Amino acid sequence: MLNAAAVRERAAELRGVTPERIVAWTVATFPERAALTVSFGGGGVVLAHMLSRIDRRVPVLFLETGFHFPETLAFKDQFAERYGLNLVELRPATDPGPLYRTDPDHCCWIRKVEPLQRALGGFDAWISAVRSDQGDTRAGLDILEYHQANGHPIVKVFPLAGWSRDDVWRYIREQDIPYHPLLDQGFTSIGCWPCTRATRPGEPERAGRWSGMGKTECGLHTFTVKV
Ligand code: SF4
Repeated sequence: MLNAAAVRERAAELRGVTPERIVAWTVATFPERAALTVSFGGGGVVLAHMLSRIDRRVPVLFLETGFHFPETLAFKDQFAERYGLNLVELRPATDPGPLYRTDPDHCCWIRKVEPLQRALGGFDAWISAVRSDQGDTRAGLDILEYHQANGHPIVKVFPLAGWSRDDVWRYIREQDIPYHPLLDQGFTSIGCWPCTRATRPGEPERAGRWSGMGKTECGLHTFTVKV
């Protein structure tokens, strides 16, 4: 496992290289200790496609919250089969029912954050498709960051940190890879159905997530602490 200073040095070296090379570096640096998280609703399919060409054994973690659109579940299965992904579905430890109506933060904690926290205990590197241009809470991301997750050190890897939404779509079209069907129906970011709506032209990419609920993040990218 690299320490925080080494991660900063590697980040400086990797800035400007292609996302595919960053994914390959991660897989080579953390053998059997790296995982990718994918929601199948956006840029994650780009990284899953890259990973399928590098090493299909690397776990692809999917948070099965119990509230996905049927289209998400069908697309996830089709994509994983087509590219031979090592798909691992993470489920909540308890079922609190439709808690999203009264306490969406706690709902996200039970259905997303806690299951991921549990799973990440088995890894040293976590690859994610988060991009800097997705909003204020994601601005300033580095390619590599050293974090503490529940007392466990983890290297967060953001190969698409410097990419725009247009870059993601360019890759999808150039590589002719499938994408979530709701993206053609006005949705620009897709999560659980109770907390996702289509966006209007000109709205920010994630405006349809927790719309009117005073919430912008599920907590997956805020429960770790950057060192
Ligand atoms: S996105 Fe909504 S339904 Fe899904 S876990 Fe969070 S609050 Fe619950």
